[in-house]
Amino acid sequence: MDYNFPVVRTTHPKARPEDETKLGFAKYFTDHMFAMDWDEGLGWHDGRVVPHEPLLIEPASCVLHYAQMMFEGMKAYRTQDGEIQIFRPDMNVKRMARTCERMCIPELPEDLLVAAVRAVIKEDIDWVPKAPGTALYIRPFIFGDEVSFSVLPAKHYRFLIILSPTGSYYAANDKGLHPTRIYVQDKYIRAAKGGTGYAKVGGNYGGGMRASQDAIKYNCKDVLWLDAQEHKYVEEIGTSNAFFKIDGEVITAPLDSGTILPGITRDSVIQLLKKWGVPVSERKLSIDEIEEASKNGKLEEIFASGTAAVISPIGTLCVQGEDYTVGDGNVGPLAQKLYDNIYGMQTGKVEDYMGWVYPLGLKA
Ligand SMILES: *Cc1c(COP(=O)(O)O)cnc(C)c1O
Repeated sequence: MDYNFPVVRTTHPKARPEDETKLGFAKYFTDHMFAMDWDEGLGWHDGRVVPHEPLLIEPASCVLHYAQMMFEGMKAYRTQDGEIQIFRPDMNVKRMARTCERMCIPELPEDLLVAAVRAVIKEDIDWVPKAPGTALYIRPFIFGDEVSFSVLPAKHYRFLIILSPTGSYYAANDKGLHPTRIYVQDKYIRAAKGGTGYAKVGGNYGGGMRASQDAIKYNCKDVLWLDAQEHKYVEEIGTSNAFFKIDGEVITAPLDSGTILPGITRDSVIQLLKKWGVPVSERKLSIDEIEEASKNGKLEEIFASGTAAVISPIGTLCVQGEDYTVGDGNVGPLAQKLYDNIYGMQTGKVEDYMGWVYPLGLKA
C-alpha cells in the first residue's frame, strides 16, 4: 500500500547531543514521533508524524493497570555515504505479529511498520548519529488505552514509534566490545511454558527487575535466566539471547519451549556461524554442563546477542556466589568476529553478503 502520512513539524527543535561518543542508551529522543490509532470498526487509522511530546492519557486507561502492550526494537544506521539503512525489518514485522496475537492486540498491516519507520526517520534524519558504535534506536510500541477496568482486550489502541540516538549499550573497548559479569539466576524465573516469554512485552521486564537488581549486588551487569521448571537449563541473558562456545561447539537455547525471545540478532548469529562452518546447535544446555566445561578449560566463550548491544561478550559467570572465568576473561575471537561482521554490514563497512540490509532510500 502507498501510505502518505501527514506531518506536523515541531516548532521547538531540541539541541542535538554535543558529543556523539557519549550518547549512552536511550537518553536522548528526537524531535518527532509516529502515531496511529485503532478503533473498533475503523481498524488502524490516522497514521501521522507529530512532534515528540508527552502523551495525554486517562488514568483509568487499561494499559496502566493490566499491561496490554507490546514493543519492538530496531536500529537505523548511517553508512559512510550518508545512506540510512535498517536491518532485517521483515523479521520485526513477523515477530510483531506474533506478539500482537499473544496479547490480543489488533495486528498491523504487514507493510505498515517499515512505512511508518521511514516516515518518521525522514523528519529526523539529521539525528542519525555518525560516530563508531552509534545508531538511531527505533522503538515501536502499541498499547490499549480504553478507559476500562474490565480484564478484556481494549477497544482502542495507540501505535507509536519514538527514536533515540544511542551509543554502545555497554561501555566498550576501542574495538566496540567489553566483557561483562553475569549473574546466574536460580531463584526467580522470567518465563514459563505457555506464558509470554516469546513475546516482546513490558510485563516480562517488569517481572524481571527484582532479579536484575539482585545481580547488581554481586557486581553483575545482568542475569542469565534458567528454565522455570527445573532451574537447570540456560535460557537468555537480560535483554538478549545467550550463546555458549564449549569445546568448539556453539550452543544456544532452542525456541520450541516458547520461553525464549526469538532475537533477530540470534537468528543472524546462527546463520553466520552455519555459513562459516562453525558447529552451532539449538539445544538444551544445563548450568552443570557449563560448570563442568569451565573446570576442564573447555568453556571458550559466552556472549549475548541483541539489537541494543549487537554482541556483548561475557567474561565471568557468577553462580551461587562463585565466579567462573570464561576463556581468558577477555573478548572472545568469535564474539569479536560476529560483532565486526554484523555491525559492519549494518553500517555498510562490510559487504552485505547475507542480503540483510534494507536501505530506506533516505540520504543524510
Ligand atoms: C529484544 C529481546 C532480545 C533480542 O532480540 P533482537 O531481535 O536480537 O534485538 C532478546 N531477549 C529479550 C528478552 C528481548 O526482549
